Formats: sequence, C-alpha cells, structure tokens
Amino acid sequence: MEIDPASVRNIGIAAHIDAGKTTTTERVLFYTRASHKMGEVDEGTTITDFDEQEQRRGITIYSAAVSCIWKRHTINLIDTPGHVDFTAEVERSLRVLDGMIAVFSAREGVEPQSETVWRQANKYRVPRICFINKMDRLGVDFSRVVKQIRERLKGNPLVIQLPIGEGDEFEGIADLVRMRMLRFPADRRGASVEVVDLPESERERCAEARAQLVEAVAGSNDALMESYLDGEDLSEKELLGGLRALTVSGAAHPVLCGSALKYVGVQPLLDAVCDFLPSPLDVPSVEAPLVTPKGATCHVRADASEPLAALVFKIVAEKPLDLYYLRIYSGTLKASSRLINSATHKKENISRVFRMFAKRRDQLDRAVAGDIVAVVGPKDALTGHTLCEPRRQVILEEIDFPKTVISVSIEPRSSKDRDKLVDALGALGRQDPTLQVTKDVETGQMLLSGMGELHLEVMVQRLKSDMGVDALVGKPRVSYRETVSQAGEAEVVWNRKLGDKEHFAQISIRLEPAAQPSSSSEEGVVLDELPPGTLNPEYIESAMLGVADAAVSGVLGGYPVINWKAALIGGSQHVENSSTVAFEAAGRLAFEKAMREAHPRLLQPIMHVEVVTSEEHFGSIMGDLNSRGAEVRRTLIEGADRVIQADVPLAEMFGYVTRLRSLSSGRATAAMTPSHYAPVSDARAREMCG
Ligand code: GDP
Ligand code: MG
Repeated sequence: MEIDPASVRNIGIAAHIDAGKTTTTERVLFYTRASHKMGEVDEGTTITDFDEQEQRRGITIYSAAVSCIWKRHTINLIDTPGHVDFTAEVERSLRVLDGMIAVFSAREGVEPQSETVWRQANKYRVPRICFINKMDRLGVDFSRVVKQIRERLKGNPLVIQLPIGEGDEFEGIADLVRMRMLRFPADRRGASVEVVDLPESERERCAEARAQLVEAVAGSNDALMESYLDGEDLSEKELLGGLRALTVSGAAHPVLCGSALKYVGVQPLLDAVCDFLPSPLDVPSVEAPLVTPKGATCHVRADASEPLAALVFKIVAEKPLDLYYLRIYSGTLKASSRLINSATHKKENISRVFRMFAKRRDQLDRAVAGDIVAVVGPKDALTGHTLCEPRRQVILEEIDFPKTVISVSIEPRSSKDRDKLVDALGALGRQDPTLQVTKDVETGQMLLSGMGELHLEVMVQRLKSDMGVDALVGKPRVSYRETVSQAGEAEVVWNRKLGDKEHFAQISIRLEPAAQPSSSSEEGVVLDELPPGTLNPEYIESAMLGVADAAVSGVLGGYPVINWKAALIGGSQHVENSSTVAFEAAGRLAFEKAMREAHPRLLQPIMHVEVVTSEEHFGSIMGDLNSRGAEVRRTLIEGADRVIQADVPLAEMFGYVTRLRSLSSGRATAAMTPSHYAPVSDARAREMCG
C-alpha cells in the first residue's frame, strides 16, 4: 500500500542528555502500538537503545529510524544522538528531518546541548515544537523554561498547554486551544486520556494564557486578524491552522508539557506532531547539482512521478547484508531495481525495501518521495551519497563533516586478528563518516581518528563488544596541523643519475597563507603562474603533484599542512634529461624549502567548551579552566546557574569530564565541540618538535 506523503511526518527528538528523549520515544512507540511492552530507561529495556553499550551507559548514541502510525499519519522517527561528541551525527540526522520535537527537562531547563542542537536546527531550518518534560519533579518551573527558550535560544515559544499543578501535585494538562483539562490515569499507564472541564481555580490563568496565544496567532495573518477583531477570539480550526503555518515557516515554536515517565502528555504531543509539523510536501524542493552537465542544477521535488533521488543517511552493519537507511527526496523507489550512486558513479542494487518498525520490519514493493525506508543491496555507498536513476544523476549536497581532532593507534593483539580488525574498522567507518582510519606514515600503525575522547572510547568499545575484535589501543593523541604565516619562496634544482639515466628539473615556487581558510576537503591549493611555454604540461602537472604531496607532512613535526596556497613561478627543463620523476621530486623539495622560509607554525585543535554550574563551584571551575589555558568568551547567569563559554586547547582537556565531576560533586555539566585550529606557543612547539 502506498502512503500519501501529506500524511508523513519525518521527525526527530532532540534533547540535552537525560532530559527524557529515550523515555518519550518509548512512550510514543507504546501509544502508537508499535511496541506492546513499554520499556524503561532505568531497567535498560528500551527499544531504541537496542545497543548493549548504550543500555549500559543509559544514553542513546546511534540514531535509528523507526516508523509508527498515529491517527492515519506515518511518523518516521529519527532518533538523533544525545551526546555532544557526536554533533556530526546530529547534523546528519537534521538533514533528513522535516520537523523536530525539542525536549527540555522542566527542572534543568535549557542546557548546553539544547542550545547546540537548537542552533543546528536553525541552520537546517527545521521547524520545531517544544516539550517541557519532567513536570512531575520537585522544584520545576514551567514559565522559567519558556522564558529561557525565548531569551537563551531566541525562539518564539507559543504556549498551547499549561501544567495543572507541578511536582508532586502535577495533575494534568490544560489544553489552551480547546480550553479543557486532560488527565492521564496512572493505573492504565496513561493509555486512555480523560478529558474534563478546567478546574474553577485554573480558569482565569488559562483564559489569560489563551488570550495571549490567540493574539499572537491572529497577529500573524490578515485573515485571522479580521476574524479576531470581529469576535475577540478564533475558532479551534483557525487557531490550529494559524499555529501550523507559523510552525512550518519556523516563525514560532508551540510549547507543550508533560511527564514522559509518569505517562502524562504524550498523546497530545503526537497530535501536535501531526497538527503542526510539516509533511514532506510542505518542505521547499531541494536545489541540487547534476553530475552532468557540470555546474547545472535541478529542483528535486517530493513528487513520486519524478526521477528517483534518495540520500543514504545511515548504514547499519548487519549480517549478511548491511542495512542502508534512505530518505527519498523524489521519485519512486522500487524493490529489485538498479540505481546509480552519483558520488562513485557505480551501479548499486536495491534488492529489498523495508519500513522499519520498532520490533518488526515490513517488506515493501515500493516507497515514494518524502518517505524514509531501509534497503539492502547497495555495496559501495557511504553515508551522504545519493542514489539515483541513471536518467537524472543529482548530488544531494554532501554534508560537510568537521575535521577529526584526536586519534589513537590501534593494533591487532595477534597477527591472525589483523584482517578481522581491518574489516571491523571498515564497517565502523562506513557507519560513521566522522571516524577515520589511516596509517601512520612513520610507524605503519593504524590510526583511528574522531571528534573527541568519548567518541573514540565508544568506537573502541563497540569494536570489542559488538564486533568481538580485541585490539591494543594507544593513548589518545591530539591531531596537530602545520601552516605558514607569511610568504616564502624557494628554488630547487634536482639533478640525479638514476640507473644510467640523468634526471633534471628546476622549479621555483612561492608559498603563502591562504587568504580564505580552506574548506574541509581542501587543505591547500597549487596554482600555475609560469610564463606560457616555460615547461611541458606533464612536467607542470608532476611538479604540482609533488608540491601537494609534500604538504601531507609539514617540516615541523610531520603534521599535515593546512591553509596554504602555492604557485609555480619559474622553472626550466632539459631537452633530453628532464622527466616527470624529476619534477615531482623537485616539487616536493621546493615545498619543504619554501615552507621553512614562510615561518611555519604548529597548530592545535581548539575546542569550544560550555560549562553549566551553580554559583558555588563557579570559582574553582574558572580557576581550573584558566590553568588549562582557556580563553573565556562569555559567562552568563541563568537563573541559579552560571554558564561559562570558553575556547580551550584539546591537548589540555583530557579527562576533563572526570575532573569537573570531582570539582562540582557531579553537579556541573560540560559540552565540547571542535571549534578551530590555533597556533601552539613557540616555546611549546619547540618542546614538541625539537
Ligand atoms: P535521554 O538521555 O534524554 O534519552 O533521557 P532518558 O529518557 O534516558 O531519561 C533520563 C532519566 O530521566 C531517566 O532516569 C528517566 O527515568 C528520567 N526521566 C525521563 N522522563 C522523566 C519524567 O518525565 N519525569 C521524571 N521524574 N523523570 C524522568
Ligand atoms: Mg536516551
């Protein structure tokens, strides 16, 4: 059966760790009857946290896409990861979502990770509704969180529900659209919702809140404004329609509340997903580059009759075949079909297509634009690649992943484990493109690089427990870089006898810092500024190759060189004795020589760190950050909390989470993401590189 894209909701749930994302997801899957047994985070029995390691840590790291059905809508739930070391994974999921539920803890309010995810959702223009969870806890304050959404996140919260009672006295929810109270009897685990009149004592407060809501919605639209001025109110239909338009356009964020743990407020949250969040048809078409002709683009529309284009957004290793999660942006995906991967130009088979439910998968003959499905069959596709019909090959914008900043060496415990380790690392790399496997040029050891200490820790753990590969893992090492700080020139004459043949090359280059920091895929560029006719084209190409090759390891500590621009400015060739080998070698030498002239500098990754603490520990945490060479950007007062935003060298941040815990008796939290590269002090650089 084909589904109507208008009834599809591709959504994610995002939250700071422990705000209740997993619990909310569980309740959603239960009430939509996708699962018959409700899981509990605290007992490690949840569905989305299927991964054994996640269950032990009690956090969700791997995003899984799960479908469920609510009131004739198909909700595809993409479980966005909650940990900050996995920001790239969050970004990747945000790309394929059309809407998001932002979950906040009523007690902790807006936390560092909520801010990061909110910012990312802004970047990808993902419409949002807010769910203020944990209303059953003591000392919570609904309006404080709403205020934080407005002030700290710069959102436009529109309150459509009010809690009735808070903490121990949390009794239910006031629905301001329909002016009624909802109760969720605990003995039935909230499975039936009781609709009752608003208690007398709450009427005035709710009427005021509703008036504010109605005014905000009416003010957004001329037709609604007219109807409002007529009767000082809006009908339920007008209010819902107005809210939907505001939410879909990103102009407002409806706010709901509840307690996922105590089964309160989840069904109205599902209603809000269907009422307010966009369907794939509400989302603007994507303008994507075509493979040929180069430079041309096309509009990829959520239309089943157009040529197929689908983005691979997640790969899960499974035996015997990996499962590829696809978002279909246009066209119709059919089982037993053959597509082309626009990134590799290779053919890929789609043997079977599935809709993934929590505990079963339904095999589909076809799936249409707007939907999210899993397929088996592809072999060489990676996350971020586009699968298309040969007649229209498009590139659905690959995601720009941040560079890795930390690495560990990894070796098999015995030589017979070597192949197994290589296979396992390959599988991990396919699933998580922020993970890189390279070979240390000097030691020949394999290096695993990633986005942070915890990222690598989790990956190594996965390698051991899930894939059964026992490996020797080195200490985490910071990924340094090198660059040049001014222009430098060099001339090289390369003249050698190899075998019985003379080889000759002469070139001059100028090396300087790139005006624009290079994009993640390009660390530097080589330009040809030779007077016409100076060298044969194949020699120019070889010299350029040599220059680029030398930049892989700089002259200070052998680290990759970034943000450079080189130009070939002179050279000469010999009629008989010149060769491509000679020009490549000369290019390499010229780069090294010019780099020494150009004031090379060692660069280190700087992390953006945000710490939230109570006033009590503020001083000692600041002191500790200062001793780590932190540059404090901003400190904020947030209710009873202090927020510190600082840039700190990654090299100084090993084991920080443990230290912070002991400094604050476990009360402060920190979030960390790679920010940029900055020079290492000269003294320190001398110490490191001799
Ligand atoms: P996640 O890290 O965002 O996925 O959060 P979890 O769903 O794993 O929840 C973190 C902790 O908060 C667990 O101990 C949950 O039992 C608890 N929790 C979740 N929702 C609620 C709630 O509504 N009220 C209370 N009191 N606790 C909750
Ligand atoms: Mg979780």
